[in-house]
Amino acid sequence: MCGVTYPYEAPESQKLFARASVVTPGGVNSPVRAFRAVGGTPRFMVSGQGPYLTDADGREYVDLVCSWGPMILGHAHPAVIEAVQAAVAQGTSFGTPGIGEVELAEEIVSRVTPVEQVRLVSSGTEATMSAIRLARGFTGRSKIVKFAGCYHGHVDALLAAAGSGLATFALPDTPGVTGATAADTIVLPYNDLDAVRAAFAAHPGEIACVITEASPGNMGVVPPLPGFNAGLAKLCQEGGALFISDEVMTGFRVSRAGWYGLEAANEGWAPDLLTFGKVMGGGFPAAAFGGRADVMAHLAPAGPVYQAGTLSGNPVATAAGLAQLRGCTDEVYATVDRVSAEISGLVGAALSKEGVAHRVQHAGSMFSVFFTDETVTDYDAARRQEAFRFTGFFHAMLERGVYLPPSAFESWFVSATHDDRAIERIAAALPAAARAAAEATAG
Ligand code: PLP
Repeated sequence: MCGVTYPYEAPESQKLFARASVVTPGGVNSPVRAFRAVGGTPRFMVSGQGPYLTDADGREYVDLVCSWGPMILGHAHPAVIEAVQAAVAQGTSFGTPGIGEVELAEEIVSRVTPVEQVRLVSSGTEATMSAIRLARGFTGRSKIVKFAGCYHGHVDALLAAAGSGLATFALPDTPGVTGATAADTIVLPYNDLDAVRAAFAAHPGEIACVITEASPGNMGVVPPLPGFNAGLAKLCQEGGALFISDEVMTGFRVSRAGWYGLEAANEGWAPDLLTFGKVMGGGFPAAAFGGRADVMAHLAPAGPVYQAGTLSGNPVATAAGLAQLRGCTDEVYATVDRVSAEISGLVGAALSKEGVAHRVQHAGSMFSVFFTDETVTDYDAARRQEAFRFTGFFHAMLERGVYLPPSAFESWFVSATHDDRAIERIAAALPAAARAAAEATAG
């Protein structure tokens, strides 16, 4: 891969990966965990503590993936572990309503003003899939609008020009999604309100909803231009469609009230529906969608739109999520903001020192690095970056004990436990990584 060698050994991970590859496609249970884009063997992690992960070979890494977002309080946070242990001791699933579900729903409703009612599910994918079904059921319309480079989970209708693993592996879409399913999805360039206006004009009375990442992190971090989300809300209102803001990644991570809290709350507009996951599950499978009570009232059993789940609102998952959200204080948000600014500043300085063209882009405490000298505002620009430079950069960091997302198209995440020691390790690794990026050649 671009002349990168792997001078360090990970024999236990290699053995485990060989075993995994026999019984699991590609050796992983989610494509983004594979090292296909960067080469080498994915590390099998055996434990996490605060900002660190330890792999099967006993090597410790500063974790800048944080389980792809959830671990905002760091790994094995005592309050989360305690809540989980207490919940588990009472039994793991009842298939009946439980108090934890009510408390978690109340916590979400109290944090995010436009969420008047919320339904718990088990993954972000389920949340966006259900929100779209609800939007279609509520409006009686079929078409949906999404943006290129935004990832909303592996929902059939939303996999066109999606970010995350599809961006990493340069897949325009996926076999297995029928033409009929994809035909109702209109894919538009991100940050382009004129394109949205034109879509409403071309399909009057047909568009059920516009769904967007509140601030995209799945093509790298590409924040909305000022007025973009507000414009979407207005166009949806005028066109009789619902505006769905996908906060699976940003929700409860970039502020107490997610991206809504950073942007919309100050601008006087609100999404009709929002989706959540990651942080709200405390590392367990818990996610949610919610919003206007009159829209949510259309969900079964209150209304006709069917949606269900055997493990929805699972007592262990809700206990973990509630403990984590309660631990997400103003101080925690101030800490992750500060740590993120410090680390991203170090990354930018190291790359500048080596003369590597780059942009470090932020959305609150989320950030990522594009190897380009243009500001990235959409998926086409994200793909124009010199992604080949990331490979050597990634491996130089990994070798020096820093775990980055194994893709140039993913957000980096920090936790409130990333302390001076963790930051020093990152700072020490960066000069060699920046050199590797500078020396990389395409092809
Ligand atoms: N929406 C967004 C914005 C995401 O980032 C993701 C996952 O990365 C999802 C939805 C899907 O969530 P899950 O992986 O829990 O299904």
